[in-house]
Amino acid sequence: MTTGSSLPTHKDKPLFTPGPLTTSLSVKVAMLHDAGSWHWEFNEKVRAIRERLLALAGVSRAGGFDAILLQGSGTFGVEAVFQSGVSPQGKVAVLSNGAYGERMVLMLQRARIDHVVLRTPEDVPNDPAALDALLARDPAVTHVAAVHCETTTGIVNPIADLGRVVRSHRKTYVVDAMSSFGAYPIDFEACGIDYLVSSANKCIEGVPGFSFVICRRTVLDATAGWARSLSLDLLDQLKGFEKNGQFRYTPPTHSVLAFEQALAELDLEGGIAGRAARYRTNHRVLVEGMRRIGLHGHLPEAVQGYIITSFVYPRHPRFDWPDFYKRVAEKGFILYPGKISQADTFRIGNIGRLFPSDMKAVVNAVAETLAEMGVDTAA
Ligand SMILES: *Cc1c(COP(=O)(O)O)cnc(C)c1O
Repeated sequence: MTTGSSLPTHKDKPLFTPGPLTTSLSVKVAMLHDAGSWHWEFNEKVRAIRERLLALAGVSRAGGFDAILLQGSGTFGVEAVFQSGVSPQGKVAVLSNGAYGERMVLMLQRARIDHVVLRTPEDVPNDPAALDALLARDPAVTHVAAVHCETTTGIVNPIADLGRVVRSHRKTYVVDAMSSFGAYPIDFEACGIDYLVSSANKCIEGVPGFSFVICRRTVLDATAGWARSLSLDLLDQLKGFEKNGQFRYTPPTHSVLAFEQALAELDLEGGIAGRAARYRTNHRVLVEGMRRIGLHGHLPEAVQGYIITSFVYPRHPRFDWPDFYKRVAEKGFILYPGKISQADTFRIGNIGRLFPSDMKAVVNAVAETLAEMGVDTAA
């Protein structure tokens, strides 16, 4: 490592993970500044980012929506919605088919918020008919929370079909779109979303530091006085931005600077449609390549999204995940462990600054590693 003003010249190992992700050099370089959190130049960037997020979501302030940035990782944004958006008498129905749905349940337990969980197996999407039946028999439910792309497996849940059910029962709809916003088109009105949560370091390709919540203003305004937490009080955070353009407490300044650049690069790529096209191609190149070397995805293709893919461990006595991971990393590629309880899998993400050539390269590294280990996938 050199000291002084030289820029990084080496390339870090690409991250085939669900975030933080490989970012462009220009996104990293955007952070080489010290921004004053009070200063009008920084506040103007925050204002512009909030506008840009509303536009990306296809909603507007005139149409009744607003965008709130909140310090912390994505989990903090989801927890803020529950901590401040659910009344003391509220009850949340959580749709869960993976670790992030289960994390919502933990948040509700910690906050002592009444809740009910509607589970499907990790390879089965959330069930709108089951939700309809639940809401019909349990009128105490006030909120429904779902995860769009459940990063645990890479499954994509039917947020529009669920949303129609939520709306027909007049409940508040919370969507964790952490690993899909920016890469999947999401129609707010068709889905009837009241709160959507995502974060800086997923498909927008910024760096970690904050989450953001795009919410229906009338729904948020009705939450005054409900917050169980000061730092996670969403309405207060929004009022802070409205009052003086500032985060209430120290903002992640470098992360905001990186995000501004990441949004510009998303535009250059053709917005959500352009990014979706690259990720879809990445996913196809990956899955086809892995299939060619005898490795298969865990999910049925019909429910597999194009963000991250779980691959089943080769059934061979010489396969050992820690050794495999280390060898692939030594070749320069960072994979991700599986998180599924029902199957032995590892994951390969194809989001972030990755291209089809990177996907081909990681497949080659996997093939070489299996050969080195003496793992025969044809067995
Ligand atoms: C990444 C992710 C989160 C948030 O995780 P953090 O580690 O807090 O950023 C939440 N939900 C989903 C679906 C995610 O992919």
